Amino acid sequence: MIVGIPKEIMHGENRVSAIPETVKKMVDGGAKVLFEKGAGVGSHYMDEAYAEAGAILVEDVAEIFARAEVILKVKEPLFNEAKNKHELDMMHAGQYLISFIHPASPSNHPMVKQMAEKGIIGLTLDGIPRISRAQAMDALSSMSACAGYKGMIMGINDISKFVPFVTSAVGRLKPATVLVIGAGVAGLRALATAKGLGAMVYATDIRPEANKNAESLGATIVETGVPSEIAVSPDGKHANQLPEKWLEVERENLRDIVSKSDIIFCSALIQGKVAPVLITEEMVKSMQPGSCIVDISIDQGGNCEITTPGEVEVKHGVTIQGIKNIPGMLSTSSTIMFSKNIYNLLVYLTKDGKINLDLSDEITSSILVTKDGEIVHEGTLEAMGLK
Ligand code: NAD
Repeated sequence: MIVGIPKEIMHGENRVSAIPETVKKMVDGGAKVLFEKGAGVGSHYMDEAYAEAGAILVEDVAEIFARAEVILKVKEPLFNEAKNKHELDMMHAGQYLISFIHPASPSNHPMVKQMAEKGIIGLTLDGIPRISRAQAMDALSSMSACAGYKGMIMGINDISKFVPFVTSAVGRLKPATVLVIGAGVAGLRALATAKGLGAMVYATDIRPEANKNAESLGATIVETGVPSEIAVSPDGKHANQLPEKWLEVERENLRDIVSKSDIIFCSALIQGKVAPVLITEEMVKSMQPGSCIVDISIDQGGNCEITTPGEVEVKHGVTIQGIKNIPGMLSTSSTIMFSKNIYNLLVYLTKDGKINLDLSDEITSSILVTKDGEIVHEGTLEAMGLK
């Protein structure tokens, strides 16, 4: 099997889809790995290390796209300015693409249609189901953990106070108050980071299970006031999208702690849905000057009403972080996690040295986007209004 690793071309993207360790494993497993020169520099992995691991370094990315049977990427195919060509235009029928394709996102629909027309077999990492046997391939969870940690560090950096309780010759300084809204993968990592630095941490989630996890990490739970039969799916595992009436109840219950918080970390979300607005502009106005909101749900619209996508802005004296690619700002760690996730998926899909898709398998069927010239991904077809 010939595996191709191109350099990521999305603006500001420092990650890469393989580290020398995973290249070595692929080579030891019998694959030939074509690696674009300089592709690891953004995450501080140098060409020499890839060559030592057995990769063939290639100058021209077009050669990688032409020769590889499987392309491993971090981000969906984009227009490559340096080549004056879309990455898809360098690919060919029957070639596999494994990446975060985000196929349901409307801005990617034309690209996904073209992928199908070209006969490319697209497999998207954002489709990996959150089940225990898929954990080692779950790049979304890995990236959420990165966003939780780095996002909290960004918030801490934005405030002008100590985070821990400090005793000094001139008296005691109170620790910072941190509120985490949405105690899922990202929220729990953010919470542990703040707690580790000595903050007073509060957390809230509409799932009792998530609140239990937050409590075990040392958070004080703020009740949302939403009954669990409204908030949680019948199997108890997933949060429901709340009607406006219950969101209003939740906002009322959060109002007091919001006004007292130095840092609010927002990660409340139901996968594939618009993020619930839990902090209104009026609630931001109630916050102390110099405090901060880190709104990592911004890709789905944000939990704060006035977060600007992709920007950091000060509004009503509060710094509001709407940065989108936080894992890319932690590129070494996120690349290690991502490359291991994608390697594990490649191994999972490979039989006798070739990719062999078992469409009856839950993981495979959840990630398959295009095959035999057709778009087959349910969420994408729904989003396109074709189902
Ligand atoms: P998750 O599904 O593990 O957690 C989301 C949590 O929100 C769940 O526990 C859910 O119960 C809770 N929730 C849902 N509705 C709620 C409500 N009304 N009130 C309180 N809690 C509610 O998701 P995750 O993996 O932690 O990801 C969280 C967000 O982070 C997502 O929006 C994801 O896209 C985003 N993310 C952003 C970046 C970035 O760079 N900005 C990077 C990675 C992930």
